[in-house]
Amino acid sequence: MKSWLLAEQQVLIEQIHRKNLPHAIVLSGVSGAGKKELAHWLANALMCQYSAPAEPSLLANNPADIPCGQCKNCHLFGQNSHPDHLDVVAEGNHIGVDQIRQVSRFLEKTAQLGHNQVVVIDGAEMMTESAANALLKTLEEPTAHCYLLLLVKDIQHLLPTIVSRCRQLPLRPPVGAELTANLGKTSQDSFVNLSHFAELADPEIHQQYQQVVQQFISFLYLGQQRMALLTLLETSAHSVRWLEKIAVDLLRSHHQWQSVTLPPAIDLDKFSRFLHDKQDALYQVYQAINAYNKKVTSYSQFNQTFGLEKLLVEIQFIIDD
Ligand SMILES: [Zn+2]
Repeated sequence: MKSWLLAEQQVLIEQIHRKNLPHAIVLSGVSGAGKKELAHWLANALMCQYSAPAEPSLLANNPADIPCGQCKNCHLFGQNSHPDHLDVVAEGNHIGVDQIRQVSRFLEKTAQLGHNQVVVIDGAEMMTESAANALLKTLEEPTAHCYLLLLVKDIQHLLPTIVSRCRQLPLRPPVGAELTANLGKTSQDSFVNLSHFAELADPEIHQQYQQVVQQFISFLYLGQQRMALLTLLETSAHSVRWLEKIAVDLLRSHHQWQSVTLPPAIDLDKFSRFLHDKQDALYQVYQAINAYNKKVTSYSQFNQTFGLEKLLVEIQFIIDD
């Protein structure tokens, strides 16, 4: 679980235990904020027969044991075949009224395994007007043991009448100073160990590193020279680890510039403002690079050149968004 979700998770566990969890919750936040991760965990926790059992002595008290991962419900959920769990995702670029009617029918039935029913609607802002109105009806008639989780990037994109019937759970990944503090605390985070790369002691490699820094900053800020950056990245075995470090440095040091050397053509004040305005985007860039690095290290067959180009395109999209 992402470190900034732990507090929310603890509150939700207590609400499940006390059986006063709201029946409709909107989880909102930018991509990378952890909406899916938290919703997936919560849906599983609601399915697990030990998270809020009828017999209190069976209650799992250690948060790490929720969901238990062992019971029949957890197994079915893990195989994505729990009959009382429904995931709704956009078809094309919208969620239509038929999909929401299916949700209503699903919730009208009683739970097949006699516990809770959970519906997760991912990208709820993509509901058509008639879908949103159909959902409103379902929200007006809440049933016991039924839970509806709506995932949205921005709560402003939902009908106020829907929002007013839901508990709001805004998720914000830490940025700037908060991120730095957060990094210090969670030593298992992969990028805490990024600050010192042994290979940078070699002056030649250090020079390559500086080139990557300058080229990556030009790419982010000026939005061009993708091929030049790609070529440069391909020449060094360390390059993508370096990108991860540069992204973290940019997030950390938007007031202070000890660690980042700007290309001479870039104006410091303008670039500072750019970093300030793009905090959320930069955090997403960091996450994209981090996800890419994980892929590279876990699949030996991974096509690096193709993957790298895709990564750079993705970064450009995030920054331009
Ligand atoms: Zn379980």
